[in-house]
Amino acid sequence: MALLITDECINCGACEPECPNTAIYEGGIPWTLNGQTHNPISNDFFYIVPDKCTECVGFHDEPQCQAVCPVDCIIVDPAHIETKEELLAKKESLDLIAR
Ligand code: SF4
Ligand code: SF4
Repeated sequence: MALLITDECINCGACEPECPNTAIYEGGIPWTLNGQTHNPISNDFFYIVPDKCTECVGFHDEPQCQAVCPVDCIIVDPAHIETKEELLAKKESLDLIAR
């Protein structure tokens, strides 16, 4: 599953550098994947790009962003439920391109 940052985010920025997939962006900042730039998913809060979040599968035992968030506002995204196998496949496909 990909994770989701809720509107309880206080924009502290602690999560962004912890993400091994560079899936986290500051609100209003465009996200990039494989050399392509995309419009921000949120303009107000830090956000996670579902196509880039592997729930840290392949890197760590637990989601690193959740571990550092001081207000526990990072949750499972109900719109992006994936199995561990699907997440590992996503990680491996990301390994082949520029995150
Ligand atoms: Fe990045 Fe891991 Fe958080 Fe997903 S769960 S956004 S891969 S730190
Ligand atoms: Fe927002 Fe939590 Fe990330 Fe801080 S660590 S920017 S509060 S999601």
